[in-house]
Amino acid sequence: MDLKTAVFCSEKFAQHRPPSGHPESPARITQLLPKLKEDFLHSVLWIEPTTAPEEWIQRVHTPQYIERIRKTQKGPMVLLDGGDTYAYGPSYDVARLAVGAALNAVDKVMSKEIKNAFCFVRPPGHHALANAAMGFCLFNTVAIAARYALEKHGLKKVFILDWDVHHGNGTQDIFYEDPQVFYASLHQFPHYPGTGKSTEIGKNEGLGYTLNLCMPRGASDSHYEKAFEEKIIPAIDSFKPDIILISAGFDAHKDDPLGEIYLTEQGFEKMTRLIKEAAERHCQGRIVSVLEGGYNIESLYKSIKSHLQALLAD
Ligand SMILES: [Zn+2]
Repeated sequence: MDLKTAVFCSEKFAQHRPPSGHPESPARITQLLPKLKEDFLHSVLWIEPTTAPEEWIQRVHTPQYIERIRKTQKGPMVLLDGGDTYAYGPSYDVARLAVGAALNAVDKVMSKEIKNAFCFVRPPGHHALANAAMGFCLFNTVAIAARYALEKHGLKKVFILDWDVHHGNGTQDIFYEDPQVFYASLHQFPHYPGTGKSTEIGKNEGLGYTLNLCMPRGASDSHYEKAFEEKIIPAIDSFKPDIILISAGFDAHKDDPLGEIYLTEQGFEKMTRLIKEAAERHCQGRIVSVLEGGYNIESLYKSIKSHLQALLAD
């Protein structure tokens, strides 16, 4: 039986609403979910996620921090990081549902109910630290999914590939000394949040399990393809992961307002294909991809579409 790609999404992801004009807007879901459902109505499985149990959020975040986000349920909008990360009313539940989507996806990939998965969620997660919100992110969805894959499913090695235009400082920090989780990022540098120098390669037991590829402003599909061939794919081939998680931000697209990288949707398709081939070599094709950034609605639409086409292709 041919297994399908699954997309985990819910209209509830639109309930977290930062102030109007904020780039991380509910329109990312409300405008794109109906279009993508129409495009991929029968070719992928559409699955409504379930909320993540708090015990799994606690595996990555401190109790004090989780309590801080939970408390925003009752009050007015709170600015969490002195910058641009907000929470209020529904935010805690929406962020927990995003984590739940990634955990559901790991479960179904591991049980071979689906071929691979894309979690079409918000808010994003990769800037969130163990004890702090940052860069629009509340809970670090991919980091929690990685811990879950190790502890719930007994996997030994998780590879996280982060191609969001911004460095995933939160994910790197959480696994910086952990040899079971390889964190690889391609990001514009210098750029927000300022971390992700090529000299950041992990520490102690985790030394050599962090890989940062700094992309110059103006880098295009060919730069990324070269980085994949020379660095990313060899890193996966020597690490030999049991599952690959993708922090799939699409803000490195040429039309995105938050970056100055010039990837096209064809670039995202090509990167997805290369990762799929690597996943087939090492881990029976297990891939769970989780949306991070991507703030131009039209280019986000085209990029997700290309990403899904590559994920579901034979
Ligand atoms: Zn980003």
